[in-house]
Amino acid sequence: MTSTTAVNPITNIRNFCIIAHIDHGKSTLSDRILEMTHSIEARKMENQILDSLAIEKERGITVKSATVSLIYQAKDGQKYTFNLIDTPGHVDFTYEVSRSLTACEGAILIVDAAQGVEAQTLANYYLALENNLEILPVINKIDLPSADVPMVKQQISSELALDEDDIVCISAKTGVGIEELLEKIISYIPAPSSPNETVIKALIFDSFFDAYRGAIACIRVFQGKIKSGEKVKLFFENKYYDVEEVGLLGIQRQKKPELECGEVGYIILGIKSVSDLKTGDTITGYKNPATEPLIGYKEIKPMVFAGIYPIATDEYGHLSTSLEKLKLNDSALQYEKDSSIALGFGFRCGFLGLLHMEIIQERLSREFGADVLLTAPSVRYQVLIQNKGEKKNLIIDNPSKMPDPSMIIETREPYIKASIISPAEYLGNILGLIQDKRGIQKNIHYLDTSRIEGVFEIPLAEIVFDFYDKLKSYTKGYASLDYELIDYRPTDIVKVDILVSKESVDALSFLVHKDKAVERGRQIIEKLKGEINRHMFAISLQACIGANVIARENISAMRKDVTAKCYGGDISRKRKLLEKQKEGKKKMKSIGNVDIPQKAFINILKT
Ligand code: GDP
Ligand code: MG
Repeated sequence: MTSTTAVNPITNIRNFCIIAHIDHGKSTLSDRILEMTHSIEARKMENQILDSLAIEKERGITVKSATVSLIYQAKDGQKYTFNLIDTPGHVDFTYEVSRSLTACEGAILIVDAAQGVEAQTLANYYLALENNLEILPVINKIDLPSADVPMVKQQISSELALDEDDIVCISAKTGVGIEELLEKIISYIPAPSSPNETVIKALIFDSFFDAYRGAIACIRVFQGKIKSGEKVKLFFENKYYDVEEVGLLGIQRQKKPELECGEVGYIILGIKSVSDLKTGDTITGYKNPATEPLIGYKEIKPMVFAGIYPIATDEYGHLSTSLEKLKLNDSALQYEKDSSIALGFGFRCGFLGLLHMEIIQERLSREFGADVLLTAPSVRYQVLIQNKGEKKNLIIDNPSKMPDPSMIIETREPYIKASIISPAEYLGNILGLIQDKRGIQKNIHYLDTSRIEGVFEIPLAEIVFDFYDKLKSYTKGYASLDYELIDYRPTDIVKVDILVSKESVDALSFLVHKDKAVERGRQIIEKLKGEINRHMFAISLQACIGANVIARENISAMRKDVTAKCYGGDISRKRKLLEKQKEGKKKMKSIGNVDIPQKAFINILKT
């Protein structure tokens, strides 16, 4: 492996990130750059090497940013240090991307030669502009038969206001154009500036977890230098730590005595959990601390909430330790204890979005063998109540915490601003979907003769439900979506309870807009009917708002005599069958005197 510990003057450092819409080839380009700079031995090379989590490899999506330092031997005879940050493209992880951008002078903006400019291409472009980055446009996948380079060039220059002459055309798959790109990085992206300052200022732009060393921060030094062994201060945390180790982030970490101004690397402060190492915080000196942080620090806020319960109720302890470990390397995950009559003990969790939720579920299963059940996702509502003459504002993300309707003065729900880019022919379908999702049309314009960009305001709860899947199917997969939270607005949210033989099944309760309550209530009741076996008595299934029944079904009675086939007096066979029936019952939840199979919850809550 090539050493990256060679000392470069600051003028030979280039800090850049790779940004793009999902699947346009960021991780594959990172692979090629690592290969071409001999940063990794050929036999160790694998696809999407920076996607180190198993789930990233399997699904081909980047969940965490990854940073590597590498040395490039340029044609001018000099060696350059490239600090490359591969970023996640999905909207759930925008905060990570924006912090990664802060650590760089430049961004490589990739556009797929067959797909063209998409919603997150624009979103990432604006993000890079806001951070004053030099943006280098790259068209990737020119090897594809469906590639349309002239068209994509046209889009880049008209929609992104970037110069056509600056565009580098590459194939990250075959390696065409990569060398030209590496040379262009040197001439196009500026070296870090070096203010003549001794006051230390370094930005934490990412963190990860190491089983032996605990939380490790990825940092960019903007002023001064950070030495191993000295004492530093975390600005927003307002705490002091000894620097245990600093170094560069190669494919493996490379320890150094100090990190200098302009450098990107890691720092180990003896902190156990990544949640105590806040992305966006500024590291400064102990003796001579900075008076101003580098940037404002923003707490990452979860947007989607759901209950997580072990599928086997005796697995609660295991789930608890698994979540604790997962939290050590996923600072965005939030959870607290919760319990349900139907599902037993579990946790109420907050996620950045639906993808993040899915990822947590999969990682729990893969990395910890913890198979879990997720209750229906909910957003966070603001509820103003009046209790005995006293007004109070509540934050509600759990149906079981929803106050009695008689106390509620006003409910408000989160709205997002969504930007959708699609071929114009699907506009009618999109508008229908927006209307169905209680969305408001703000602006629609043509990007070119065949594509439109629509801006809409939509309740977050509707996006959480099945918006993205529907958008994709309504546009044959062509539309792309980007969104951000804007505000809370007055709404009419009700809590729907699901009753089995007049008893409420708390795990199935949900919060919903009153116009959608009947439809969703009916769906669940119908599904539930298909999941519960007949009993010896009739069972009523109801969806209710308060005392008001909005949907109902009945399961008629049946006498199920399992011993009926045992004619004659073979008592041992009879006993065996009864035993078997008892075993089966263990996998059931009893609500009142009705047995609901555990898998009924899985099947109903899955959708
Ligand atoms: P990311 O989401 O931006 O990181 O995209 P990936 O690097 O994971 O690539 C998405 C998909 O596009 C993968 O299946 C890659 O193999 C494929 N891909 C990436 N670059 C090229 C290319 O230059 N040509 C072709 N044909 N496929 C590519
Ligand atoms: Mg990727």
